[in-house]
Amino acid sequence: MKGGRGYQRVGDAFSRAVQEGRGPRTVMTCTRPRTGRTYYRRVSAQECSTLTAAALPALWGQPGSGVQGVAWNPATALFQAHLIDREAPGEGWVQIRFTAGSARARVGLSCPHCGRTCRALHAAPTDDQGRPATLVGCRACLGLTDAARQRHKCPDWAASVLHRAAPTSDTTTRRALQVMEGTASRFVRHLGLHRDRPDAMSAENN
Ligand SMILES: [Zn+2]
Repeated sequence: MKGGRGYQRVGDAFSRAVQEGRGPRTVMTCTRPRTGRTYYRRVSAQECSTLTAAALPALWGQPGSGVQGVAWNPATALFQAHLIDREAPGEGWVQIRFTAGSARARVGLSCPHCGRTCRALHAAPTDDQGRPATLVGCRACLGLTDAARQRHKCPDWAASVLHRAAPTSDTTTRRALQVMEGTASRFVRHLGLHRDRPDAMSAENN
């Protein structure tokens, strides 16, 4: 779409960072159905395959077990005990080291990027430009988000806050009311009914 004189499309800050190679290790490419504009968003942990340490036999982490790591196939969700350096991982398999820590009852998974001990590692389906790939790492290294977090401050989030049986904080409730009021007034404006703004629209605060 061509804008007016001197118009320059800037785009959102996150998509700009991705284009300049400053984004996270994995992103999703999205297209706005109405304008055809493409933009990027973070990948949520729910969109990845996940390997949790709790799913592995605790015995594997014990000294003397001889198991140094796990071979994981994110596509099939299979895993098997692995001897690092002695066995080459097959096609579609990634090898993940256990972190040292004999006192721990549980196996610790070592992130291939930062080496931190993790309870869960994820395999993202796309690379830093949204192209198909399998990238394994911890939540922080892959720059993952939560599906729940992406809905934050959307109308369905506001509705769930306002209908929650358990009490929420005053700030959260006020935010939710603001979101609802904003959505309602945008809707009213869209219908062309905004000249006579009914009093009911200004939702009672607190
Ligand atoms: Zn990491």
